Amino acid sequence: MILDINQLLRENIRTMKPYSSARDEFSGDAAVFLDANENPYNSPWNRYPDPRQLKLKERVGEIKNVPISNIFLGNGSDEPIDLLFRAFCEPGKDNVVSINPTYGMYRVAADTNNITVKLVNLGSDFELDADAILAAVNPNTKIIFLCSPNNPSGNALDHNGMKRIVEGFHGLVVIDEAYIDFCPEKSFLPVLEQYQNLVILQTFSKAWGMAGLRLGMAFASFQIIEILSRIKYPYNLSILTQQKALELLDDKQRMIDWVEVILKERTKMVEVLVKYPFVIKVYPTDANFVLVKTHDPRGIYQYLVEEKIIVRDRSSISLCEGCLRISIGSPEENAILIDALDGLV
Ligand SMILES: *Cc1c(COP(=O)(O)O)cnc(C)c1O
Repeated sequence: MILDINQLLRENIRTMKPYSSARDEFSGDAAVFLDANENPYNSPWNRYPDPRQLKLKERVGEIKNVPISNIFLGNGSDEPIDLLFRAFCEPGKDNVVSINPTYGMYRVAADTNNITVKLVNLGSDFELDADAILAAVNPNTKIIFLCSPNNPSGNALDHNGMKRIVEGFHGLVVIDEAYIDFCPEKSFLPVLEQYQNLVILQTFSKAWGMAGLRLGMAFASFQIIEILSRIKYPYNLSILTQQKALELLDDKQRMIDWVEVILKERTKMVEVLVKYPFVIKVYPTDANFVLVKTHDPRGIYQYLVEEKIIVRDRSSISLCEGCLRISIGSPEENAILIDALDGLV
């Protein structure tokens, strides 16, 4: 679909002139930097970080096999979510369409920006209804948010359904792939360049084990990346984040090994969980957590808290009645959970 990104943009964003930082205007090597009112002492923390994050982007580009002009790096993936609203959605006027249930941050970012969210329920097994999504769109719909694998249900959404939405919608489609490292074959990243309106979100917070560093990614056409880069805080990633991530990204094998252990543990946990009499159903999952439907979610949650084990009570979320969401931990942590649950039988 041919899409004029500029026409989708809010007028004020289209015409704004971005803040130009000292490090934007001169980014080469020099002996003496007297351009940014930095303190000459306390190296290296006295210097502002690279606002374009070139080194880190090059490394991410190698790992993900994406040119750096198609990469945005943010303070978690929550940052690009918020920036997309601010760039494309006119407060009090535009709307976005999203699935239900899903990740809570789309709603928070929408509320912050005074944008309506039109929710389309997933099916009884949390399957995507692509026709219902497309039917919910109106002329003021700027973005469709999909999440695959979905949080809190855990399942990857139907690939063809998502493809039909990307191809059938005259606006942006965001596919949040926060959990994609647990099912890499389901990613839309390999076909990114086929779609001008596709934004793929990924993160280093889950499989890569860097939630504390706050580093998320958006992949999209260079027009969209340029817009997000224009409106972000100039120094959105600290020196610490950029340096530490560069160091940790050197060891991709470590991440792959973690994923292997977690997936094995997930299989084991599902086998154990389905046998408990208080468990009604364990939903199929493509992520590092399972959604478990139980007879007494509050009771089980409280009991586990007393055992010093914290899971997520999702039972008040629509379509998640009775459900607890349980992250897959280390073999030791999972054994502790099983021990505790055995005490309920
Ligand atoms: C955990 C999660 C994220 C990650 O957010 P960060 O800000 O990158 O830590 C994004 N989307 C979904 C659906 C998540 O569950």
